[in-house]
Amino acid sequence: MSNTDSEELALFRDMTQRALQKEVAPHYETWEQNEVMPRSIWHTLGQAGMLCVDLPEAYGAASASFEIAQMVLGEMAQMGYGGLASSYNIHSNIVAPYIFHQGSDAQKQRWLPKMVSGDVVGAIAMTEPGSGSDLAALRTSAVREGDEWVINGSKTFITNGLLADLVIVCASTNPSAGAKGISLFLVDTSLPGFSRGKGIRKIGQHSSDTAELFFDNLRLPADALLGEENRGFFYLMEELPRERLGCATQAIFATDGALALTLDYVQERKAFGQTVGSFQNTRFKLAEIKTQLELCRAYYQQCMDKHIQGAMTVEDAALLKLSSTEMQCTAADQCLQLFGGYGYTSEYPISRFYVDARVQTIYAGTSEIMKEVIARPMLGR
Ligand SMILES: Cc1cc2nc3c(=O)[nH]c(=O)nc-3n(C[C@H](O)[C@H](O)[C@H](O)COP(=O)(O)OP(=O)(O)OC[C@H]3O[C@@H](n4cnc5c(N)ncnc54)[C@H](O)[C@@H]3O)c2cc1C
Repeated sequence: MSNTDSEELALFRDMTQRALQKEVAPHYETWEQNEVMPRSIWHTLGQAGMLCVDLPEAYGAASASFEIAQMVLGEMAQMGYGGLASSYNIHSNIVAPYIFHQGSDAQKQRWLPKMVSGDVVGAIAMTEPGSGSDLAALRTSAVREGDEWVINGSKTFITNGLLADLVIVCASTNPSAGAKGISLFLVDTSLPGFSRGKGIRKIGQHSSDTAELFFDNLRLPADALLGEENRGFFYLMEELPRERLGCATQAIFATDGALALTLDYVQERKAFGQTVGSFQNTRFKLAEIKTQLELCRAYYQQCMDKHIQGAMTVEDAALLKLSSTEMQCTAADQCLQLFGGYGYTSEYPISRFYVDARVQTIYAGTSEIMKEVIARPMLGR
């Protein structure tokens, strides 16, 4: 990284931290209790220049580097705003890049400036009640009728589902072709035939809303197709590595945050007349957490560099997601343990790091699916 690049990163980090302190910190507890963020936070983040930062200036964005985009996400995770981080990741680091990479000029002009300003909130809907890991088994259908597509079906576990103005929907356009018969659609959620269920209650990341979505003879214009017909699975495979890299960003920064809280606590808390930090067990646990964290960070940096050069493979991303999110869950658990009973209370933020971490080994492909992705080429299939 050149001097100018690191100066820009430092400036952005400073701006991000200040915006999070001012706009998020005073309200986050309320959002967690409400199990959804207010719609206005998206405008606030847009005005602060924090949405889709790596899109070109032509769309009103900062045209910042990929490192800066990941850093903004990471700061949210490090400060303990895991729910905000996940919602932000879907909007800025997943939905916007899909449109930027696969969309037509007209689609980019229509959606991207509004995603940068926060006028449009994005979501992506792959998972269905009957198909999660096995994406190719999805049942939502899109049938061409004249100049329109007619969508029927439902999706579940959709992050930003309650607030989204735009949802990228994966639907089958050729049911007999399996993975080769899936297409992606840009669904304007104000259209008739679109509806949302109630928010799904979760054990963590409460402020990131998660919902079921329903499509009942939803009619879309022909130009709502994203990319080419029946190429949806290919686009998912192209974009999923970036999504998994985003999970690793959250894992590494959140572990930094959890570890910092723990270091403070064990140096203050006393038991048997000495600080908890002076027990050999505590020192060994902290050393183990740090070692695993730094190993993951080194591999993360390698993957970041590869991604920037367009050379990160699907296996690299799977290895990174598997190792970093499993590390995060273990570290959060061990940190919480060092807080004793206080770690189990809502009053101590370490408990939020713990519950927010848990879903990281599940969404964007479970750890088991990551292992399949890693093992497949090792065995030549
Ligand atoms: C908070 C949250 C947010 C989410 N956000 C989104 C979103 O925005 N958009 C979206 O589309 N989806 C989203 N998801 C869905 C998520 O991606 C799926 O839950 C995940 O892919 C797993 O699918 P499933 O829940 O159907 O589990 P299943 O596929 O039913 O898996 C159940 C278990 O079986 C294991 N398993 C499955 N297949 C295999 C195999 N071949 N070999 C070994 N083990 C296997 C799994 O690893 C898992 O342990 C979200 C989920 C959550 C919880």
